[in-house]
Amino acid sequence: MDSKEVSDLDDLRKLRLADEGYFVITDKARPAIIHKVNAKCVSTDSFNVKVSIDGRKQGSYFWVDSIATASRLYGAKRCKVCKPELSLVDPSTFRE
Ligand SMILES: [Zn+2]
Repeated sequence: MDSKEVSDLDDLRKLRLADEGYFVITDKARPAIIHKVNAKCVSTDSFNVKVSIDGRKQGSYFWVDSIATASRLYGAKRCKVCKPELSLVDPSTFRE
């Protein structure tokens, strides 16, 4: 079970390049949502607004290693747009 806050755009880009795990976007007004790391619904513009401009007052971005972690730590729900449940292949199954 692994999770960390995505603190800046550089961080966001690196995590997308690594293409592992998921993003959880928390919001005070709504339930937290799990997205695929490369989903189009996770835009750098909205990241900038939430993290840089609003200073995380309304919520923040987190990276998690699995959907199980996301629901356990944040009570996050799956995004209906990028549907992270369709890519449930555990990356560790590809390693020796
Ligand atoms: Zn999404």
